[in-house]
Formats: sequence, C-alpha cells, structure tokens
Amino acid sequence: MFNSSVDTPQGNMCSDSPFSCSFPGSEKLSERLMDALQTGIIFFDSEGVIQRINLEARRNLHVDVSVVGRRITDILSIVYRDVNILPDLLARFREVEVEDVRLPNDTFMRCEEGCARFFVQGLITRLDKDEFLLSFRNIVDELTQEYMLKMALSSTKIFPWYYDMEREVMVIDSRYFDYTGIPTKDNTMSLEDFGTRLHPDDQGKMADAFGRQLSGEHFPYPVEFRLLRGDGQFEWFEGQSSYLGQVEGLPFRVVGICMSTQTHKDIEESLISARDKAEQSDRLKSAFLANMSHEIRTPLNAIVGFSNLLTGGDVSLESHEAKEYTDLINTNCNHLLSLISDVIDLSRIETNTMEYHFSRQSLYALFSELYQKYKSSVREGIDFNLMASNEYIQLDTDAFRLRQVIDNLLVNAMKFTAQGYINLGYQLSEGEECVEMFVEDTGCGIPEDQQEKIFERFYKVDSFVQGAGLGLSICKTIAERLGGTIRVVSRLREGSKFILRLPLRR
Ligand code: ADP
Repeated sequence: MFNSSVDTPQGNMCSDSPFSCSFPGSEKLSERLMDALQTGIIFFDSEGVIQRINLEARRNLHVDVSVVGRRITDILSIVYRDVNILPDLLARFREVEVEDVRLPNDTFMRCEEGCARFFVQGLITRLDKDEFLLSFRNIVDELTQEYMLKMALSSTKIFPWYYDMEREVMVIDSRYFDYTGIPTKDNTMSLEDFGTRLHPDDQGKMADAFGRQLSGEHFPYPVEFRLLRGDGQFEWFEGQSSYLGQVEGLPFRVVGICMSTQTHKDIEESLISARDKAEQSDRLKSAFLANMSHEIRTPLNAIVGFSNLLTGGDVSLESHEAKEYTDLINTNCNHLLSLISDVIDLSRIETNTMEYHFSRQSLYALFSELYQKYKSSVREGIDFNLMASNEYIQLDTDAFRLRQVIDNLLVNAMKFTAQGYINLGYQLSEGEECVEMFVEDTGCGIPEDQQEKIFERFYKVDSFVQGAGLGLSICKTIAERLGGTIRVVSRLREGSKFILRLPLRR
C-alpha cells in the first residue's frame, strides 16, 4: 500500500509501550491507523529516544524507520528566529504539571539528514510519565497560499467575508474595519448592524439578495450598495456571494467578497460630467450662433438705417425727427453693448475667470443709486417705488456684481411691464442672517412650468421679444458665487417678483 522503503513495520517497538495492543493482529492495525493519519506523529520517551514515527512524519522529514531508537534532538531541530528551540521545549516537560507545549507560529522544522525544512504547526504532548508525542503539520503550502492571497488583497480594496450561520454574524476581513473605520471587537458584524449602515435606497435589494442566498437559491450576481463608513460618509461597494455546500437544502456557509467601487464611481461621475459639459458646450455653441446672429443684426440694422436717414442729404429732417432717430440709434447701441457685455460675462463664467471683490456695502446707498438711475427710464403710467426702509443694513459683497444682477432684473421688469408698478426693495430675512432683495412688477408674468427654465442660458418665454436670454443665467451664477440664491414668484398676466437672497456676512 505504501512505499516499501519508508513504511517497513517497526519491529523494535517496546512491548510495554502504551501504543502497543495486546490482542492478536492489533500491532499491525495500530501501525496502519497511524500511517493513515495526515498529521506527522513521532513518539519518544523521556530520554528523547524515538519509539515510533508514522508515514506522514517520515515523508515530510525524508527519513525512514531507521530513525527509531535514535534521539529526536539528533534527527530534527525546531527553529524559531534562527534558534533551535527543541531542547528547550523538551526541558519544559521536566516540570511535572506541563502536559503539552505548542510550537510557536513562524517555526521551521529542519531535518539535516533528510535535507528537509518546512514551516510547521505542532504540539508536543505528554502521554504518560515517560511517553511523549510530537504531532505536526507541514504548512508550507497553506502559508504560501495565505501569503499570496494576502499580498493580492493588500493592494486592492476587496474584502472577503463569510456568514456564520450558527452565531448569525458576518465575519469580515480585518482590513475592512480598518478601511471603513467601522468599530468592531472581533471582526464580526451582525446583519442588523450591517442593515442599518446601508443607504436607505439600497436596503431593499441587499435584503433580497442576501435572503435568496440564505434560502439556498444560488445568487452569484454582484449587488451595488452604499455603506455608512465610520466617519459618517457613504461609500459605494459591490458585494458578491456564493455558498459552501448545502445541508437539508440550506447553505452550510455563505461566503463572499465586498469591494469598494467608490474610485470607479468617482471616475464615472467625472466622465459623465465631462461628457455633459462637452455636450452642453456643443449645444451652447449652436444656440449661441443661432441667437447672436439675430440679436446682433437687429440693432445693427436699426443703427445703420437711422444713421443713413440722419446723414442722407436728400430728405431734410425736422429737428424732432432727428432727435427721435438719434434716440433710436442710442437705444440700439445700448442693446448691442449690453449684449456684448453679457457674452463677455458668459465666456468668463465658462472659463471660470469672473473675478469677485468683496467689501462692506451699505445696501441703502446701493439701492438709492439704482433707483435714481432707472427713475427716469420707467415708462409713463408705471409707478416705480423704492421700498428700502432699513438704512443701516451692511453686507459683505461684490457691489459691482450685485448692481449687475439688480440692473438686469430692473431692465427685465421694465421690458415686460406695460402698466401698474415696479417695486425695488430689500428686507432682512427671519433670522437676520440674510437679506432678501427684490424686484417686483405687474407685468406679463411667467407660466409656472417655465419659471425654472428662464434661468437657463438662451431661454426666453417668447422668442420674439428682444434679448439673448443670457441675463438671468448670468444673474444665477453671480448669486451663487456671492453665496446666495435667486428665485422667482410669478403669476401669468399678474406679475413677477424676483428675489435675490444673500448672506450679510461672507
Ligand atoms: P434677456 O436678457 O433676453 O432678457 P433673461 O435671461 O434676462 O433674458 O430673461 C429670460 C426670459 O425670462 C425673458 O425672455 C422672459 O421671457 C422671462 N422674464 C425675465 N424677467 C421677466 C419679467 N420680469 N416678467 C416676465 N418675464 C420675464
């Protein structure tokens, strides 16, 4: 059955040994039993003389049964940190109460005669007063595999785990707890704990996947989920599991891996936003070309046309006509100027080069100045009111950009209001941490479904009305950069109120 050079039955066994049996044929049976073991076994007496050595031990040490009768210390050494500790280990048995001594971790077993050397796990046990047993396992393959797995895993964010059915806990790679900062005592986590750490949107699918796996239905598919880390942040993971064996239709043990996919998610997100940006730029370019050609040509035509009328010598113009044409040229020049400055601002926003200079501002001074500026331009029959009662409000802001926003709102209010009133004002918010500035009109109003869209670039409710549709999108960017918000409350055919809310302190 076994290689004859190493498994010759040992004839020199002590007949009074505790390992010998008295019934006929028992000697052979015990021999075969020992040799069937997957653990190396060496029996020796109190002098250290080998009494018996089984097949697994002989195989590992590359020796045969001729070592029986020799001292164990002459045959092998147990090396821990470059020192042979076998004599010391044996010496410990001189103390009567010592029953067994475990070999420390990271220990080599060496046999010069057999030129053998391997990592070992083992135990020396006292069987009787004068009888000892060394049992050991060659763990080189195990350690190599473990080491390779550790090495492979250490450079990843993959964490193996298994579900212990008896204790009803998940036993997870200790690196997982170090990585996530989730506290643990013994690298375990109950399913309840795990469940409460899941993002509410992912709890359902995880419960389903785990439930199916636990019920014995094979579910080898990856499931994505977000888990609450120790620092309170959610992180994306992907989990996958399988099971070892089945007992009465239920899995014996569910094993799996859990892999952080946050880096992938971040890359995916930045790629999506880069793609969206590229698409948006493309759309912007087309919209820009379509809008600008029209918006530039209209005032230019008017400027050129009325200039020709003024300078053309054929028809003599009345002085009021000349004034009217000059006013029209001026108005169209202003349209062009404001269009060009909107385009410049848009490009600054695009390239992130719009500069902001913050300083302390008196709101009353700023609003009074704006009121004076627009008072004379308001159409006849429209009441223009300044509603700024509090003269002492100061805020940290960029006055130039703030003025630009209110300018834009006032120009719009005047453009879309034919009668009624336009109110310009501000008031402190409830907690007095912010100020709400408003421009309110009784103009045409904005349909409810378009009240968000008007803050998008080039969006106009009525494409026949003059304007490039850039003003409000610029206002929104500025409002956000100043740390605030802008919104509109409007009713169709009744009027609109634009509210710019900014913090008083930066
Ligand atoms: P523009 O510079 O062309 O005026 P805006 O971005 O300032 O563009 O405004 C976009 C659109 O929002 C306008 O074309 C108009 O349809 C709508 N809008 C803005 N302000 C008002 C207002 N006070 N009343 C009614 N509609 C308005």
